[in-house]
Amino acid sequence: MASLSLKHIYKVYDNGFKAVNDFSMDIADKEFIVFVGPSGCGKSTTLRMIAGLEEITAGELKIGDVVVNNYAPKDRDIAMVFQSYALYPHMTVYDNIAYSLKISKVPKEEIDKRVREAAESLNITEYLDRKPKALSGGQRQRVALGRAIVRNPKVFLLDEPLSNLDAKLRASMRSEITKLHQRLQTTFIYVTHDQVEAMTMGTRIVVMRSGFVQQIDTPKNIYNYPANKFVAGFIGTPQMNFYDAVYDVKEDNIYLDMGFAKIRLLKDFLPKIKDQVIVSGKKVVVGVRPENIYLYNDKMDSDKLDIIDAKVTVVEALGSETIVYADLDLENERGITDNSTEVRIKMLSNFDVKVGETVKIAVDLERIHLFDAESEESVIQRIPDVFSSDANIEGNKLSIYGKEITLPEAVLSQVHDGYVSVNVPTAAVELGGKYSGEIVHKDVVDTQNLYWIQSGKSIVFLKTPLDVNLEGKVNFDINIAAMKLSGEDYVAHRINLLAKLPVQAVLPSKEQLQFKSNDDLFNVPFDIAQKMFNTKGKKLLKTNISVLFNTDNDGPLHFKAKVLSILDYGDFKYAKVDYFGNQFFVVDKGYNSGDEITVNLDLDDALITDEDMNIILVGQEPRRLQKIDNSKAE
Ligand code: ATP
Repeated sequence: MASLSLKHIYKVYDNGFKAVNDFSMDIADKEFIVFVGPSGCGKSTTLRMIAGLEEITAGELKIGDVVVNNYAPKDRDIAMVFQSYALYPHMTVYDNIAYSLKISKVPKEEIDKRVREAAESLNITEYLDRKPKALSGGQRQRVALGRAIVRNPKVFLLDEPLSNLDAKLRASMRSEITKLHQRLQTTFIYVTHDQVEAMTMGTRIVVMRSGFVQQIDTPKNIYNYPANKFVAGFIGTPQMNFYDAVYDVKEDNIYLDMGFAKIRLLKDFLPKIKDQVIVSGKKVVVGVRPENIYLYNDKMDSDKLDIIDAKVTVVEALGSETIVYADLDLENERGITDNSTEVRIKMLSNFDVKVGETVKIAVDLERIHLFDAESEESVIQRIPDVFSSDANIEGNKLSIYGKEITLPEAVLSQVHDGYVSVNVPTAAVELGGKYSGEIVHKDVVDTQNLYWIQSGKSIVFLKTPLDVNLEGKVNFDINIAAMKLSGEDYVAHRINLLAKLPVQAVLPSKEQLQFKSNDDLFNVPFDIAQKMFNTKGKKLLKTNISVLFNTDNDGPLHFKAKVLSILDYGDFKYAKVDYFGNQFFVVDKGYNSGDEITVNLDLDDALITDEDMNIILVGQEPRRLQKIDNSKAE
């Protein structure tokens, strides 16, 4: 039994190919983790690095509390099961299972006990005397599992163990492995390219693509809240329908215009959309799962549905369900290879539709997905980080949610009277307090409840593990200091105080590593130096390194920089400074342009990156960068 921690793990093969990039995750004891993704995405490489069969290029791997980067596979207390079974053909099943115990010189009686127990649990006792060639694929895979079980490993690693089996056997072995996991109460990590295995077996799934983790979450959350278009398309059969669209903002409604058809964007969606700026003509990708499109009948509640005509092109009757393929563009005949207007609909088999027929389909508007047209990231937030509410300012009074509050001085700078939109972090909303509203909707995300509270014209999001009575009024409070105001012609700024310095590592003595930037030398703390050497060895001294740090931290190290200009936001003032061509911001302490000032550097809190290979050597991901809008301030 063991937990695992993977921190900024990279694999760069000798030919320079980066198979795994910045893989970080904590795996709790007894979890069943599934790595899934298309061929070549890096899932086996990651598993093999955990097993110790592949060297870790950078990053830290812990099993339990122990960093095992430099441990041999046999010292990691793991057992691995391969797709190919890897059984010894000349040995009996018994000897195959017993082999590793014999090598470890476990007493004979103990070996016999463990082999028989494992065989019993896998239902292969009657084959113990047979050779592998006299077994079916499924039985061989059980032997391979048995060989892993007898070692009582802390962690089970399984690399596509079922992909050599036929579909029926795969399904039954799938549930056997799930049962085995429950019985053994051990951590399992399972690699597959089969999304059905991932969805049915994993307590959590890691979706990978081209060496990058796309999303780590429970099967349910991956399905309901895919982080991007790739995950949305990879998980779920038949695949989610995607359409390129543009927003069409009309007075009564916002529409998603796909060219051949338009659907409404329900108002409920708006507060959850990440990028609040929705203007006509802005591109967006619409996603709808085949099970969220129905064959329309007039008994359906059409408030949350949009009805579109579609011409049926293919009908696949699968017994319990039917997959209907239809074309949404009734005007144009499209070539056989153009499926951009095709819709896949998953429905129960008792519907009877014929090829060539035009049918009315109903799109469930509550269940659509939206993706940014450029980045392909989902624009719908599961739990919004920030939402905006309408408010009014008069003097130093802000009216919001039907109450008036006096603005703290820090917020007052550059604020004019009139209507404003207030950005409120969801984390700043608490249950109980002076504001009140009505709960209009509830989502359950992981262990949290997300309540949508209507207060005046605004929707307020309240995240809480508590159950709140859905009837009547609910009271809430907001931490005013966490609010941000924005109006028509100003934005209350917060400047990003992260700065990036290019450095070279130098070794003036055996005990001390230093960073050199221009003529400045900085002593690197011993633990940081050690981590960097562990990762890069002697090559560290030839590597281009960058240090990302917060200029507002007190630090033991200092360097001189020149003030270029002062940015004045009223209560907040920042100095823009230059250090040999590198420009960044520091908090102003009454500086003037042209001053030479001292900047602090704290390597303990910095993010140190190998620039040549673009891998993190030490430190944490930086805080989310905030865009600096110089145009308004300077
Ligand atoms: P599959 O399901 O096909 O096994 P995978 O997701 O498990 O795919 P990996 O086996 O982890 O993929 O391989 C990830 C990438 O690394 C692939 O593009 C592969 O070609 C590449 N790769 C693997 N081994 C090496 C190697 N020794 N040298 C260079 N590149 C390699």
